[in-house]
Amino acid sequence: MSKSPFPLTSRLPAVGTTVFSVMSALAAEKKAVNLGQGFPDFSCDPALIDEVTRAMQQGLNQYPPMTGVPALRHAIAAKIMALYGSHYDADQEITITAGATQAIMTAILCCVHPGDEVIVIEPAYDSYVPSITLAGGVPVLVQMAVTSAGYAIPWDRVASAVSSKTRLIMINSPHNPTGSILRAADLTALADIVRDTKILVLSDEVYEHMVFDGQSHESVCRHAELAARAFVVSSFGKTYHVTGWKVGYVAAPKAMSAEFRKVHQFNVFTVNTPVQHGLAHYMARTEAYLGLPTFYQRKRDAFRAGLAGSRFTLLPADGTFFQCVGYAQISSLPEAEFAIWLTSEIGVAAIPISAFYQQPKESGIVRFCFAKEEATLQAAVSKLAGV
Ligand code: PMP
Ligand code: GLN
Repeated sequence: MSKSPFPLTSRLPAVGTTVFSVMSALAAEKKAVNLGQGFPDFSCDPALIDEVTRAMQQGLNQYPPMTGVPALRHAIAAKIMALYGSHYDADQEITITAGATQAIMTAILCCVHPGDEVIVIEPAYDSYVPSITLAGGVPVLVQMAVTSAGYAIPWDRVASAVSSKTRLIMINSPHNPTGSILRAADLTALADIVRDTKILVLSDEVYEHMVFDGQSHESVCRHAELAARAFVVSSFGKTYHVTGWKVGYVAAPKAMSAEFRKVHQFNVFTVNTPVQHGLAHYMARTEAYLGLPTFYQRKRDAFRAGLAGSRFTLLPADGTFFQCVGYAQISSLPEAEFAIWLTSEIGVAAIPISAFYQQPKESGIVRFCFAKEEATLQAAVSKLAGV
């Protein structure tokens, strides 16, 4: 069919296809090594597949409870207590979601009313601003500062962005795309800003188990004052190398979880039953997530060592499975064009950091994903080293 007789007025007029889909398609077309979209090219633990298969074979294939399978909620509450020392009631304060993306959308929908302002730190994961827009909220953007020491949040600018309409501040640590992490002083600065206000916090912690060099993940769960007003979001996709399963969760105080669940039940109602049962059993193997820093640090170090003699400049990579690199010595192209050139001509796909800003900002930096087999990283390094 050609022209629609029923044209829609877009609710997201500025939005096109995500940069991740675009760059993955280009990588496939050009047969490039895909270090663009963030996903592992290796399999998850076969024991996890066995757990999910067993659940299916046991007939656990109908709707689970709306808030999630109890065993999974209890395993999550126990993990949060063990790692961050904070108590969340498994029945009232943990909800299983269809990945972090749905958790973020639902959290925003349940507390942001038309005209409310939401502070977003840029560069920001690409779902944040559209989720705010769909809720009728107004994104208020504060840019991270970038120096050779890496990216950091200028808390004085966050404080200046607060107004009487601010309803929510969104943070993300470890941070996509920059690989930076928040430290205890950052959470103290945030607490100073929201104290004596009604501002809520949404903390996206999907990379919570990928923090390197012996540093700790400063979960908002650890910080009682912030936790009392926070939706804390995580995702099993990142932790267990199963990004396609799309199962995550949100931990939030009782009253906030109650509002979250009101929206959740009409947003998705429930999430894949056998996967939840499989994850609940598999979570007993704590080494699977406790071993992740070592596992990914090895990949990060191999990738960085491979690029050390190249003309790319390596930014610090304290967390996530992303490595940002500056390319000023190679090209003066804008980031999106450079990423396309790198994919098409050199054969390695990357993501431009400008895609994580509402108004494209050029810093001469692109992001590589190192959640890849050693052979994949070596193939990429051999192409990038000569650029
Ligand atoms: N937040 C961040 C920072 C992410 O990188 C991702 C993964 N793409 C998500 C949220 C979404 O996670 P999920 O795939 O579980 O929806
Ligand atoms: N989180 C992944 C990334 O940043 C991609 C997720 C997606 O494709 N939407 O690369």
